[in-house]
Amino acid sequence: MIRPDKNGYYGKKFGGAFVPEMLYENIRALNEVYEEIISSDAFRREYEFYLKHFAGRPTPLYHARNLSDRYGCTVFLKREDLCHTGAHKINNALGQVLLAKFMGKKKIIAETGAGQHGVATASACAVLKMPCEIFMGQKDMERQQLNVLRMQMLGAKVVPSCSGSMTLKDATNDAIRTWISDPENTHYVIGSVVGPHPYPDLVTQFQSVISKEIKLQLAEMGIDDPTHIVACVGGGSNAIGAFYEYIGKPSVALVAVEAAGKGIRSGQTAASLSVGKPGILHGSLSYLLQDDDGQVIEPHSVSAGLDYPGVGPVHSFLFEEKRCMVLSIEDEEALRAAFMLCRTEGIIPALESAHALAAINKMDFRKGDLVIVNLSGRGDKDMHAYQNYKHLLGYEQTESII
Ligand SMILES: *Cc1c(COP(=O)(O)O)cnc(C)c1O
Repeated sequence: MIRPDKNGYYGKKFGGAFVPEMLYENIRALNEVYEEIISSDAFRREYEFYLKHFAGRPTPLYHARNLSDRYGCTVFLKREDLCHTGAHKINNALGQVLLAKFMGKKKIIAETGAGQHGVATASACAVLKMPCEIFMGQKDMERQQLNVLRMQMLGAKVVPSCSGSMTLKDATNDAIRTWISDPENTHYVIGSVVGPHPYPDLVTQFQSVISKEIKLQLAEMGIDDPTHIVACVGGGSNAIGAFYEYIGKPSVALVAVEAAGKGIRSGQTAASLSVGKPGILHGSLSYLLQDDDGQVIEPHSVSAGLDYPGVGPVHSFLFEEKRCMVLSIEDEEALRAAFMLCRTEGIIPALESAHALAAINKMDFRKGDLVIVNLSGRGDKDMHAYQNYKHLLGYEQTESII
């Protein structure tokens, strides 16, 4: 477990709430009520109902026997890819839209990168009857057309962001601008453990269901603790969700996997912890890709969900405390790992999750090790990318299969 202090700081250094004056009151109001609401019986009953019957939880903790043979240890996959809408994002979207309802809000806005958070939010808004507007970078809309169609079909309005690199960072800026225009009636559903306090904690609480289930599922198998938990980190929500229950147990190695893009020294990377420095972005202080003048550097990753220049304050804290190990995985390594998982276990992973899988290639395991990889999402949305890189596959049947 890990919680920030009352001002939203992890370890007195990372986090906080750096917001324009126009949003100050709104953030304060959210901060004042969220803990009481989300821990109330009325909220928990509703939330658990939707998690179970709508999102399809608990997700399996799958003993991947073929991967286990390959790596000479026991490998489990936490199957967040089997959640409704295809990734862990629905855990948070349902929680926040429900919270907004409890707070009497009339409208939901959100930003999205890969489109997964947008689809999850649109889906939660449809079932919970809330109007929904999703901001998305123009470039991401092109990369993730299918998700744009899904959001529209679910009844959301998708608004293109055409400034900057036309990706997630720009969509976030536009969403914040829109929020400022009507903070009273609008709840802004942030999709990861980023943004001003209390968002990192709020999202962490909703995603912690992942490690709560892992704990129960291992106990059912008569297993105490895993030796390793491995998860990819964009903003860091699936990772903190998978780590949460184990943070206070030093015997469990927590491995956060960033997107190196074309290499951490290439200038085309999204590895904020590996090569970034502390700075302020989107309302909180955390590790950030920036130049010597403090200007944000455009990130790069083949995976839209990891293509973000920052990372959650909680991960900056765990990193500096050396409580988590940080690895970075290049685009090509992730693509190869995705193909490997398809052929080894019959699962097409999201490109984001493939970064976590690639990381276990770089680690040394002993026979008794029990490794949990958080498979954050499924790969349907990435079929175009996989098609474009099929030359990396190295299997003879490429043509007939992809
Ligand atoms: C959005 C996304 C991520 C990255 O977001 P986190 O907040 O770091 O979890 C990872 N995997 C999938 C499948 C995603 O959709």
